[in-house]
Amino acid sequence: MGRAMRGYGGRVLFVDVTTGASRVEPVSETMARELLGGNGFAARLLLDHVPPGIDAYDPANAVIFAVGPVTDTTVPGNSRACVAGKSPLTGLFFDSTFGGRFPATMKRTGFDAIVITGRADEPVYVKVTEAGAELRPARSLWGQTTRDTVAALHAAEGGDVDVMAIGPGGERLVRFSAMGSYWKNREAFAGRGGLASVLGSKRVKAVVVAGTRKTEVADPVALKALLEQQREPLKTGTKALSTYGTPFLVKPINTLGALGSYNLRGEVFAEAVAISGEEMHAHMHARDTTCLKCPVACGKQYEIREGELAGLKAKMPEYETIFAFGSMLGNAHAGSLTRANDLCDLLGLDTISMGVTLAFVCEAVERGWLTERDLGLPFGWGDWRGMLRLIEMTAAREGFGDRLAEGAWRLAESVHPEGTRLVYAVKRLELPAHSARALKGMSIGYATATRGGSHHDTRPTPQYAQNFDRRSPEGKPEFAVRSQHFTAVDDSLVLCRFTSERGFGLYVDEPYARMVGAITGWDMTTEELERVGERVINLERLFNVREGVRRDADVLPWRVMHEPIPDGPSAGAYCPPEELDGMLDRYYALRGWDADGVPTRDRLAALDL
Ligand code: SF4
Repeated sequence: MGRAMRGYGGRVLFVDVTTGASRVEPVSETMARELLGGNGFAARLLLDHVPPGIDAYDPANAVIFAVGPVTDTTVPGNSRACVAGKSPLTGLFFDSTFGGRFPATMKRTGFDAIVITGRADEPVYVKVTEAGAELRPARSLWGQTTRDTVAALHAAEGGDVDVMAIGPGGERLVRFSAMGSYWKNREAFAGRGGLASVLGSKRVKAVVVAGTRKTEVADPVALKALLEQQREPLKTGTKALSTYGTPFLVKPINTLGALGSYNLRGEVFAEAVAISGEEMHAHMHARDTTCLKCPVACGKQYEIREGELAGLKAKMPEYETIFAFGSMLGNAHAGSLTRANDLCDLLGLDTISMGVTLAFVCEAVERGWLTERDLGLPFGWGDWRGMLRLIEMTAAREGFGDRLAEGAWRLAESVHPEGTRLVYAVKRLELPAHSARALKGMSIGYATATRGGSHHDTRPTPQYAQNFDRRSPEGKPEFAVRSQHFTAVDDSLVLCRFTSERGFGLYVDEPYARMVGAITGWDMTTEELERVGERVINLERLFNVREGVRRDADVLPWRVMHEPIPDGPSAGAYCPPEELDGMLDRYYALRGWDADGVPTRDRLAALDL
């Protein structure tokens, strides 16, 4: 490899927790330049190392933590990493990103990726330092919450290490379990896709990182000039985020008629103000929190000062969580959203999947498909006490919680022959709070997303701009392709979505090429960077095609395709099957995939794949 690559540790660490053996492989400059890091490295490694067709809980599945060239530099939002594997929820490629301090510390180990496979006999945690990996016993931590686990490992290993831990949900193989990290200034969660339960299946309670290696940057002067230039747009663009965090979105999106409510029967929530960022900030805000070296500080700590939940101090629920436990459940009790979020963090559950699964339950109860007897407690719209109890039961797989732990799609299949018609999910991943009906770019975006119902494959952000045509399918496949290239590049760099979108732009463009050039020393053009995005998307698609994904999997929730939004400012909007079909034809043609959604040899060859 010659001299050390700038922006990289230059090594991949493979750890087999069955035997405790580990090995190190170098990262070639070709791999780095073609895939950047993070998401790109994870896609390549998963395709190469995970055998096709295996169950997500098979010891041969891998959980990969990966950082990128931007991680631990001076770029705002640089402490970001991705964790990837075959998802037990979708059965497909999945990556989930997170911030806090862990990513920067992981970069300091000198490993750009850590690949964990196997299954330990007894609970362990994996400690990674510059010297490699070591397995340590974790039996005493099994059963503990994410926060207690992180605190115990900080006490055992020192305050400078960082810890990513699973909770009881991951241990009990809840298919949508999340993993979390805590540091004094900010907690960080990799929420989506259930990868925490893949760690749980390997009996890995936590991953601990410690290191001191510095990330060398090729041209610090050029990087500084770029950051100076973007300082003002970043500051202006993140003002609402800095003040309220993501809950600032509740009011404008409800005003647009695009805030899913009552399991998507509507997209306006009459009590949205009560659960808006402004209202919650006024009553519960205690302090701001931030990821390492980020000036935005979009995290907030809340304190409930009144009512029966008074005294609770916990992280603010994000916008997506407010949708999932609030409007989707017809629940306007703001304090209960904070408590639900806190419970999910502690127990290790994805808030979006949990809330959307409960929204299905509310509607199924109303239709008589599920009864109080099935659930073991009364539950319905707006019942936040029942909601909190069902969250606990899910993490413990206790009673009806055992069925909830399977996620909305599998639960619905077991409830009623037409159950899945009521489920807001794509590829079995429950959708977040950016409407698949009101935003036509999200319709094609969700249908073609590698992960399914994720708002981080195609981005909603550009679609909320005043001059964006949200209704027409015209130009939306082109938009989805471009947006997906951007998210793939962003997650490979790895950069926080908020600082990147608001500071450096919504698409792969010149500032990103300059950033990569300044860090790595490569003469990277925008066109070359755009091809990196396309390459990563194609690798992910190849993984999914190997698992059987074809055109018939690129669909939307039944309700999105058959029931127009009934009322409000976006009334009438939906995406009927024939419209989706037309967009898919165009999307596949743009991608150089065949009519069934399979990448063609020619396109793969053009991408050096
Ligand atoms: S904008 Fe928020 S999530 Fe992103 S790095 Fe800063 S504090 Fe972390």
